[in-house]
Amino acid sequence: MKFGGTSVENAHAFARVGRILRMQNDSRLVVVVSAISGVTDALLNSVRIACEVNPEAARRTLERHFERHREVARALLPTRAAVNVATEIEDAGREIAEALKNIASGRQPRPLLQDVIVSYGERLSATLLTAVLVHDGFPAKYVDARHCVITDAVHGQAAPVMAKTFSNTRAALVPLLEAGEIPVLGGFIAASEDGTTTTLGRGGSDYTATLVGAALGAREVQIWTDVPGVLTANPNAVKEARTIPQLSYAEAAAMACFGAKMLHPKTVEPLIAQSIPLRVGNSRAPTEAGTLVCAEVAASPHVIKAIAHKPDTTVVHVTLPDRRGSNGDSSLCLKAAHYSNPSVNVLTASETSILLTVDETGALDSIREEMLGYGSVVIEKQRALACLVGEGLREVPDFAAHILSTLKEIDISFIAPDASGVYALFGVDEARVGDAVRQLHKAFFQMREDD
Ligand code: ADP
Ligand code: ASP
Ligand code: MG
Repeated sequence: MKFGGTSVENAHAFARVGRILRMQNDSRLVVVVSAISGVTDALLNSVRIACEVNPEAARRTLERHFERHREVARALLPTRAAVNVATEIEDAGREIAEALKNIASGRQPRPLLQDVIVSYGERLSATLLTAVLVHDGFPAKYVDARHCVITDAVHGQAAPVMAKTFSNTRAALVPLLEAGEIPVLGGFIAASEDGTTTTLGRGGSDYTATLVGAALGAREVQIWTDVPGVLTANPNAVKEARTIPQLSYAEAAAMACFGAKMLHPKTVEPLIAQSIPLRVGNSRAPTEAGTLVCAEVAASPHVIKAIAHKPDTTVVHVTLPDRRGSNGDSSLCLKAAHYSNPSVNVLTASETSILLTVDETGALDSIREEMLGYGSVVIEKQRALACLVGEGLREVPDFAAHILSTLKEIDISFIAPDASGVYALFGVDEARVGDAVRQLHKAFFQMREDD
């Protein structure tokens, strides 16, 4: 059971976790928790301030976030336990201050220390939640996730070493479960094989939950968040968005990759081999049905299940010299694009052209440089991707025509279907993507409700 940042945003939310645990039929539970909402952003921001201003100013910005943890402890714990939590927060504050100084002085590499600093978000929320659950009568036990999830050394975006992660997780958690205890782990944080702290990329607690679930052969993994499941569109863009009852792994993965932030892009990967179901529910309304993600989904009369979108995208068109039949440049270029940076997505490729998107503009210069070695490069900034998701989408008659006629007022820079027929992507101007998603939502969801 994974609880996101807003599901532990204050004392009220912390208290609700115990109520959700009591609703479960299983006696063997594992809890994964994110940092309290806003804390990861604040920790990352403190790193920036330490480098640009000074470490003391950086440390001061964190004080009010430490206070949020103390408030939860004072509200929900007896004095002695609250004092223990306060001592832990003090220790964390001291260690963070030291790390901020080392970052500012350049004594140790920034990516490495940044991971150490952000890891305190999950370490503090998990120890606090453990104390709250213990006081509430649960046999909860804090487990340092860095002993379970083992990764490569790519700080900020580490990839798990699966065999090691599975064996370490089992070794750490099975004895606790057999003793009737409830392990509580911070999500998102991990360690490289030499023991250095790493993180799994923003939103990575979802991934921790499914890695742990897969390692243990869980009956299911539950993601508790602040919306009633996976919705037909981002609710911030489409207020009429509604809960999707069921999604296949491929559909959920497409949504997660193309902007639906309630799941980290790799969340479903660990579940597929064992067909472990994933439930997404609202921690504020835990009795509502939410979304079930699994291998076999009931046939839906409507193929299109959702529209995801992703602003802040740069589109890179690479045109290769026309040497039809040789294929060499195209496949080399494709390989280079794949490996050049984790923020690169290859959308389409042919013998003579490749279309890439890049999430982080910071990576753009090096990608442009690399692609110029293969052909001419055109870059479109301030673009967005819109993604229609639904298994069997390719078989829908007049599908593309329907999209184009729905969006006739909006400039579409490209349409890229995916080979498996689970989603189709469009490039649109960032300023118009909200309109595009609302118009598609109306055409594919609201209109069919009206007729
Ligand atoms: P948590 O802190 O629980 O991990 P996140 O903020 O990472 O929560 O993800 C939940 C948010 O994802 C929602 O509040 C919503 O704004 C956003 N979101 C974007 N697209 C969707 C979608 N299709 N369905 C549900 N939520 C979405
Ligand atoms: N706390 C981390 C983040 O904000 C991980 C997570 O919330 O899943 O990105
Ligand atoms: Mg999240």
